[in-house]
Parts: sequence; C-alpha cells; structure tokens
Amino acid sequence: MRRIVVVGASAAGLAAAETLRREGYDGTLTLVGDEPLAPYDRPPLSKQILAAEWEPERLALRTPDTLAALDLDLRLGVAATGLEPADRTVGLADGSALPYDGLVIATGVRPRRLPGEGAHVLRTLDDALALRERLTPGRRLVVVGAGFLGAEAAAVAWQLGVHVTLLEPAPVPLAHAIGTEVGQMLGQAHLKRGVDLRCGVTVTEVTDAGVRLGDGEVIEADEVLVAIGSLPNTRWLDGSGLTVGDGVVCDEYCRAAENVYAAGDVARWYNPLFGTSMRIEHRTTAAEQGMAAARNLLAAPQARKPFAPVPYFWSDQYDMKIQAFGYLRGHDEVTVVEGDLADSRFVAAYRSGDRVTGALAVGMPPKAIRQWRQAIATGATWHDSVSTTVPAVES
Ligand SMILES: Cc1cc2nc3c(=O)[nH]c(=O)nc-3n(C[C@H](O)[C@H](O)[C@H](O)COP(=O)(O)OP(=O)(O)OC[C@H]3O[C@@H](n4cnc5c(N)ncnc54)[C@H](O)[C@@H]3O)c2cc1C
Repeated sequence: MRRIVVVGASAAGLAAAETLRREGYDGTLTLVGDEPLAPYDRPPLSKQILAAEWEPERLALRTPDTLAALDLDLRLGVAATGLEPADRTVGLADGSALPYDGLVIATGVRPRRLPGEGAHVLRTLDDALALRERLTPGRRLVVVGAGFLGAEAAAVAWQLGVHVTLLEPAPVPLAHAIGTEVGQMLGQAHLKRGVDLRCGVTVTEVTDAGVRLGDGEVIEADEVLVAIGSLPNTRWLDGSGLTVGDGVVCDEYCRAAENVYAAGDVARWYNPLFGTSMRIEHRTTAAEQGMAAARNLLAAPQARKPFAPVPYFWSDQYDMKIQAFGYLRGHDEVTVVEGDLADSRFVAAYRSGDRVTGALAVGMPPKAIRQWRQAIATGATWHDSVSTTVPAVES
C-alpha cells in the first residue's frame, strides 16, 4: 500500500494517521479536514472553553513539531465531497481528486438543528467561542436538550451568572440512556441550583424572541443553544455504494468495504463484546477506533482483529464528575452498588439480559468503577457481579 487517505482531521483521524506511521507505513499519507484548524480536542469546548478558563491554543491535540514528524500531506480547510470506490479516489471541494490504496473515514457528526434562525450549536471551536462571548451575567439562555452536552453547557452558563432554562422533551433527562433514577438525580442537580429545568416540553422552533413550544408558548431568551443530538457526516458518501445507516456501516474490523475503514463518531460497527452494532460518540473510543481501523487496514485478512472495546465517557457538570463504562442503552436494570444517589456519590451497575453491560459513577475515584469495567470486558454475569443484597432501584 503506497497511498492512504484519512478523511476527518480530529480525534479518530489523527489516531489513525499516527498508528499508520507507528506500524511502519511509510507511503503517502493524506489527512483531509474541512475545518481550517489543526486537530483539536472537543470535550473542553463545553467545559473549560465555554467557562473561559482555557484559551483555544490549549485544545491542540499535537504540537506543530509532532504533526510535522508524521510527514503528512495535510489538507486542511477542504472538504471531501465524494468517494468513487471503483476508481479508488476521494473527490475534494477544491476540484481535485485523491487516489488511494487505503481509506479511513473519520468525518464525525454534526449537530441536529431546529427550524428558525439565530440559535447556537456546540460542535466546533468557533461555536464555543461564539457562545462564550454571549454568556455574561444576567443574560437569559435557553438550552434545548438536557443530554450530556446541554447539561454541561447549562452548568457552565449557570456558573457564569446566566439565567438558564433547560428544556427537555423526555419526562426525565437521559432516562433512555442511563435509567430513570440516575437521570432524575442529574436533573435535581440543575433544579437545586435554580436552573429552570422543564421536562416533557417540545420545542418547535427558534424565534427572534427565544423558542416556541409545542403548545404555542414562547420562552424568551437572549441566547438559545440547541443541543438535541447529532447526525453522522456521511452526505459526501452518497452514491459511493457504501452502506450508510445512522453512520458508515462496518463489520467488527471497522471495515466498510475493500480497503475502506471507518472510525470515531461516524462509524457504526459490530462490537462483538456486546453482540450488537453500535455507533459511539465518546472521545476515548474515537481514538481507540482510529488506531484499530489503521491496524486492520494494514493487516493481512487473517491478522485483522475485531474492535471490541468497553466504551468509556466522562462528563463534568457543576461539581460532579460523571464517568461511565460499557453500553448502557437498552439496559434491563440499574442497581446502585456503592454509595448513594441522594449524596451524588455512587456507582450504578447496568444489566442487560444476564450480563453486566455498563457502570456509571458520580463523584467516585476511578478505582471504584475499574472493577466494573473489568466485569464488562470479561462478559461477567450479573449474578456473579452484583451482590443479591443490594436493592434494585429500577427494573
Ligand atoms: C462540546 C463537546 C463536548 C464533548 N464532551 C465529551 C466528553 O466529556 N466525554 C467524551 O467522551 N466525549 C465528549 N465529546 C465527544 C467527543 O468529542 C467525540 O466523540 C470526538 O470528538 C469524536 O471524534 P471524531 O474524530 O470521530 O469526530 P469529530 O471530532 O467530529 O471530527 C470529525 C472531523 O471531520 C471533519 N469533517 C466532516 N466532514 C468532512 C468532510 N466531508 N471532509 C473533510 N472533513 C470532514 C469535521 O469537521 C471534523 O473536524 C464531546 C463533544 C463535543 C462536541
């Protein structure tokens, strides 16, 4: 293989490029990114950047020297617009075409939006800086969506003295992902600080005055942040013949087609550890998948390894550090196995079928959750892992 193209210059794409070089690939390595910036980190956007605690320079994932040492053909500020697997070329927005022997797709996701103009979203550094500029004490911010992103932004805005209204269509924030009781506990964290969390509320559009709800009520705001999830960046793959369905569909090796692999937020792959296909939007998993995809691209077919990680994410909200391992969606039961929800210090374990498939900790040291990661990674049964004396909080 003499020409490899990686499309998407962020966590997954950079990890793929670095791994290719580390594994000894010395051919042409082109990294294409539609943002003009060198690869930077996104999690601090809704934390330290929004809080104005960090300047943007701190987000750089690598120093210029480290990037230069990769000997990349770096194409920043230009989007990939098409893929022709038969000719093995990637078309770029500047009209050029990049031939490849191997391709890694790492184009991430973009925010879903609401009808109407003028709302903020939070995905890029520019998004974060534009919102940060507006978060001055006494202003009114409506955040639409109380998922992790909306909750983090609401917490930072509250800390900055902004009047925050947090609107969530579900009866309990994040209940589908982390369970009703844990979701309620996170919701309480907003309410007890005076953030106006309203659940069961549908927003139909953004207006000049603020947002309009499903029942016609208008909630006035100086700024609106829409944080209602994201969509995989796969439009450039239309007509390519790749299977796309809520992400680039891949097998357990992250392989989408002959010599074409996908990694990070955009990839929907079969995770054999959980026996299901999944698309994960977590920082650590994106980098791990970039590495796995790169190794498999270089490997002979019999030497490829399935990508079977225990997904991991964290979230910072107010004084709470939330950490979770595993695949929590679709769980059958949640049990608090250490600590107490009421103290905002606990570990909760998640059961799917007879297995431990997830664990979430709030305000606990890393070692408290580590054993649960191990249980998930080894496919431990629920019965063996959870003491029968621990009362279930939800079933
Ligand atoms: C505000 C925020 C906070 C977050 N906080 C956390 C957290 O606390 N914990 C956690 O685990 N995860 C968090 N995440 C998620 C984490 O940042 C993502 O999982 C990670 O960035 C995914 O990396 P990626 O490389 O797959 O995709 P991305 O980071 O989305 O990068 C994809 C890149 O490809 C570019 N691109 C898209 N289309 C094209 C194209 N056609 N041509 C060229 N380039 C293209 C995009 O512009 C982008 O630069 C957060 C995300 C955001 C936005």
